[in-house]
Amino acid sequence: MTEDTLFSRIVSGDIPADIVYQDDLVTAFRDINPQAPTHVLIVPNHVIPTAAEITAEDEPALGRMLVVASRLAADEGLAENGYRLILNCGAHAGQEVWHLHLHLLGGRPLGRMLPG
Ligand code: AMP
Repeated sequence: MTEDTLFSRIVSGDIPADIVYQDDLVTAFRDINPQAPTHVLIVPNHVIPTAAEITAEDEPALGRMLVVASRLAADEGLAENGYRLILNCGAHAGQEVWHLHLHLLGGRPLGRMLPG
């Protein structure tokens, strides 16, 4: 059995979060330390630790994550000027929570994708 993570405890409601969307496959909630006017995390309801552990069985949840990201971006008024979707994988990417998550960031110009 996969271990609980901070984000699976948010999915189950054990830990409070500002949940903006939830269905049978994915949950979206506002990042606790927002880096832009809109900063939402979209996670699969089941634990996938990192992108490196993705399997074909995860396709429905991963597809849903992108559909929900696009819909939330539109709802937040980001579609016209654009936004960024980030998925950090592992140590070199600075991943902090070992439950795969998509960052939806927007509401201001976000600059270059990488510093330098
Ligand atoms: P990453 O560096 O890609 O693993 O991103 C982890 C993100 O989770 C960071 O942006 C944190 O601010 C965010 N985060 C950590 N704890 C919480 C929490 N309890 N509720 C919402 N977001 C969180």
